[in-house]
Amino acid sequence: MRIQYISLLFLILWIFPGCAPKAETRMIGAKIYEHSGSYDLLFESWNDLGINTGFCSQELISDQDFMRQARDHRISTFLIFPVFFNPDVLAHSPHLAAINRDGFAAAEEWVEFVCPSRENYRHEMVEKARRLVREHAPDGISIDFIRHFVYWEKVYPDRDPASLPVSCFDSVCLDHFSKERGIALPPDLHSVPEKAGWILESHPEEWTRWRCGLITSMVEEIAEAVREEKTDILVNIHLVPWSEEDFDGGRMRVAGQDVVALSEHADLLSPMTYAHMVKQDPSWVHAITEDVFMKTTRPVIPSIQVGLAYLDEEFDLEEFRETVEEALKPPSGGVILWSWERLIAEPEKVELFKDILRER
Ligand SMILES: [Zn+2]
Repeated sequence: MRIQYISLLFLILWIFPGCAPKAETRMIGAKIYEHSGSYDLLFESWNDLGINTGFCSQELISDQDFMRQARDHRISTFLIFPVFFNPDVLAHSPHLAAINRDGFAAAEEWVEFVCPSRENYRHEMVEKARRLVREHAPDGISIDFIRHFVYWEKVYPDRDPASLPVSCFDSVCLDHFSKERGIALPPDLHSVPEKAGWILESHPEEWTRWRCGLITSMVEEIAEAVREEKTDILVNIHLVPWSEEDFDGGRMRVAGQDVVALSEHADLLSPMTYAHMVKQDPSWVHAITEDVFMKTTRPVIPSIQVGLAYLDEEFDLEEFRETVEEALKPPSGGVILWSWERLIAEPEKVELFKDILRER
C-alpha cells in the first residue's frame, strides 16, 4: 500500500513537474566504500549537506560504530551487495566463470562474472545476504552486479550492438535452457561457438527471456531471504544505464535486466547514469531515469558520477551542476552520488552540491 502511494505521488510529480519533491522527501544518497576518519564528523557533514542515505560497503555495514553513528544522525544505510561479479571466487574456482559465445570466459579488464546458473553459488549468495542483514540490520540492500556480463562502463553511444557480449554458454546454462524451454540443440553442434550461434540465430527471444529469468529469480530469492530477516528492509537494484531501445534492446538482450519483472521484487531502482564516462550529456541522466520510470511502479533514483573515471577528459563544475540538476528532475526520486570519496576529493563540488540542494 505504501509503495503504491509513493508510486502515485511520483506519477503526479511527473505530470506536474512544478511540484518537485521537497528536500525532506527526496533520497539524497552517497555510495561510500571506506572511511578512515571519525564517523561522527562524517555524518555531521552529511546532515549539513543534505545527504540522508548511505550506500555502503560490506566492511562499513559490518562496523558497529558506523551503524550506530548513522542511526544517531538519522542516516539510512543500504548494504551494497555485489552478486555475479566475484573475482575472489573466480580466482579459486575458474570453472564457475560465465562463458561468452566464443567459448572463452566472460572477462574484460577488471570485470569478470560467475555463471548465473550455478545453484550452489546462488544459494551461497542468498545466505550471505540473509546473514549480513540479520547481523547488521541495514535499512536497505542495494543489489549490485545483478546482470549478465557486460563492461558497460566502456560502452559508448556509437558501439555496434552486435559487438556486445551475450553470455552464458557454458554447459550448465545450455542444459538448463534446453530442458526448461524444451529446445533441443541439434546433435551435430559440438563447439560452444556453434551452439551459441545456433541459439542466437534460431531462438533469440526464448534465449533472452530465459536469461532475464536467471537475473529476476536471483533478485526474488535474495529479496525474499532478507525480508524474512527484516520485514521492513528496502530492496534497491543497480541497473545498467541503458534505455529499453539502446543497443538493440541491450538492457534485456545483453544485461538480462527486465525492469518490469525486477520491479516486482524491488522497492527502488537505481540506474547507474554515469554520463561523463560513457560520453553522454547531462540531459541523458534524466532521459534514462524517465525511461526506467515509465516501465515501473517504483521510485527511480539515478546514481551519478562525481569525479573522473575511465576517460581523462575534463569533468568541470558546470557539467557537474547540470548533471545533478538533471538527476533531480521529476520523475526522479532523488540522487545517489558515486561516490562520497570522489566528492570530498573536490571541495568545490561539495559546496556546489550543497548549493544545488538548497536551491531546489
Ligand atoms: Zn552459465
